[in-house]
Amino acid sequence: MAKVICIANQKGGVGKTTTTVNLSAALTQMGRRVLLVDMDPQGNASSGLGIKRFDTQDSNIYHVLIGEKTIHETMVPTHEGNLKVCTANPDLVGAEIELVDMPQREYRLKSAFETIEDEFDYILIDCPPSLGLLTLNALTAADSFLVPLQCEYYALEGLSQLLNTAGLIKKSFNPQLHIEGIVLTMFDTRNNLSHQVVSEIRNHFADKVFGAIIPRNVRLSEAPSHGQSIFKYDGKSIGALKYLEFAKELDANTFVKIPQTQNREESIQI
Ligand code: ADP
Ligand code: MG
Repeated sequence: MAKVICIANQKGGVGKTTTTVNLSAALTQMGRRVLLVDMDPQGNASSGLGIKRFDTQDSNIYHVLIGEKTIHETMVPTHEGNLKVCTANPDLVGAEIELVDMPQREYRLKSAFETIEDEFDYILIDCPPSLGLLTLNALTAADSFLVPLQCEYYALEGLSQLLNTAGLIKKSFNPQLHIEGIVLTMFDTRNNLSHQVVSEIRNHFADKVFGAIIPRNVRLSEAPSHGQSIFKYDGKSIGALKYLEFAKELDANTFVKIPQTQNREESIQI
């Protein structure tokens, strides 16, 4: 059954899309079957994976939310192995309004996922920078949410609002919702402030913060304009190495492996 993770932070420009795309690609490299669902009308995750807006203009996540298409009909392959995408485009802005009067408006995405949960190991949702009905649908459909935080002075600004919203959604729509963790992005080793922000966030959130920190890396910002993940664009870059390290950490939390031992002596040797 797929684990559904929503990548959320109502601040723009903190690395949500970069994380969703490259985490998806990293998990795919590790042999996992991944579906990326683009829930941002800007459609950056879709274009960042090389899908032309025109190709899916009649069949994308908007049509799933308003009930015109099944999610199966909208999934498209990518050049990144086992990674598929449900794309988004600016039409999705309309869904925020159209959904208001629809039955089960908070559960539209969740019901769509019920038909595909055995086909993937992970479903990752890239959220828009707001806490409207689109993010509400994403958090209702998710098992957990992952928060990218940019290593800057105002990193924590708005985080309490996101945690409050998640708390309300947990109470009203999705009792199993929990935080997957915080991933620190755009870390600048030469900047003292970056180091301070990391230690402050670690003090505050302790084991909720992933060990792998994503550095500021120009290759990560160039990759989307080539329609590629960092692994296709420059697999040897520090950005690629760190996103892979992060993906392994996240995957280890998800699929805890118990070593198979025959007997006691053998287990002691191990
Ligand atoms: P969001 O989805 O939260 O708005 P993005 O992932 O689109 O944020 O990132 C915002 C901008 O920062 C983009 O131009 C992206 O290419 C760039 N960016 C994101 N992460 C990094 C990084 N680790 N190093 C360098 N540039 C980055
Ligand atoms: Mg984005």
